[in-house]
Amino acid sequence: MKKINLVSIAIASLFIIVIVYSCHRGPYAATNKSYKKQVREFSKIIKKYPLEDSSAVAFIGTTNMTMRKPNFVIIHHTAQNSCDQTFKTFTLPRTEVSAHYVICKDGTVFHMLNDYLRAHHAGVAKWGNNTDINSSSIGIELDNNGFENFSENQINSLIELLGRLKRAYNIPAANFIGHGDIAPTRKNDPNWRFPWKQLSEKGFGMWWNDTTNITVPEYFDRLSALRIVGFDVKDTNAAIIGFKRHWLQDTTAKMTTASDKILYQLYKKYQ
Ligand SMILES: [Zn+2]
Repeated sequence: MKKINLVSIAIASLFIIVIVYSCHRGPYAATNKSYKKQVREFSKIIKKYPLEDSSAVAFIGTTNMTMRKPNFVIIHHTAQNSCDQTFKTFTLPRTEVSAHYVICKDGTVFHMLNDYLRAHHAGVAKWGNNTDINSSSIGIELDNNGFENFSENQINSLIELLGRLKRAYNIPAANFIGHGDIAPTRKNDPNWRFPWKQLSEKGFGMWWNDTTNITVPEYFDRLSALRIVGFDVKDTNAAIIGFKRHWLQDTTAKMTTASDKILYQLYKKYQ
């Protein structure tokens, strides 16, 4: 009897130890460890000098350098149902997707990748002549299933984060854009409810002025204007839908006199 009691106590203690240990480690302890390991591998590459280059006769290290900096911010909606679901997606190697930041509905910000490293958030995308957006941008995911509004707390946290990024990396206002802008044939995030106008008033993204007294000149070329703003116009329809979603909160594809006026106003700001 005494022996059975001792065995039960031992099992119970072991069980408690396992629970305490796993709570302490947290659900992402293993992936955090993997993150650190990957960063150590990258630092080995940076420390290597010179890089193997058969055409170089010698290595003469310059003393003038800094880290490369992000120059764009791409805003997304997660198209998932919760932040927890997104954390799982971004920590599973097989999904191959990630972002630097995730902002939950209550405004909580989670940092998932150092700003100097390359997240896999943009995919095949183009803005202007930039075709490797992942290498030049910070990706921010907003917890939103794609069919709902963005909460006030979430937008307030986003604005605070954007302010820090803009100051830290000197990112131009025009370079705060959405995933749907850079990949208009594949993506529509952040969804049309996203408050781009509010953001532009804080210096993140461009906006158009009052068009009441605007007359669009006869020579106005809609596609060139979209191209100058940054859109890939290979698929004209997709580019127009992207433009209207971002700058008119409209999901239709037809350009009207009113939307032409807005595009005309907007593109002049990019010239
Ligand atoms: Zn996206």
